[in-house]
Amino acid sequence: MEIYEIKILRERCKDCGNCLELCPQSKATETPPVFLEDDGVVRVGNPASCIGCFTCVEFCRASAVRVLPAEGFPLLPDIFVSRPTSRIF
Ligand code: SF4
Ligand code: SF4
Repeated sequence: MEIYEIKILRERCKDCGNCLELCPQSKATETPPVFLEDDGVVRVGNPASCIGCFTCVEFCRASAVRVLPAEGFPLLPDIFVSRPTSRIF
């Protein structure tokens, strides 16, 4: 079940890999939320494995990754207080 929706803005993304290196789920599951494709492009993988820690949002220098509650899940207040950039989708 996907609690969070992840989007990488291709026009901003530099494919630096910071998001997937810092994502706690990268090594915790074989199907991580974001991954490096063979062609060198960072893409959204399995959003269902995202735990909504917002580390990727916080440390992306290009402000290229967005994480929001998936449809049907309520917007969590702390997202908007502590992670204002996650509002922009
Ligand atoms: S950290 Fe940002 S710029 Fe780097 S690969 Fe991830 S989304 Fe792209
Ligand atoms: S919010 Fe956390 S778990 Fe989800 S993709 Fe970003 S770093 Fe990974």
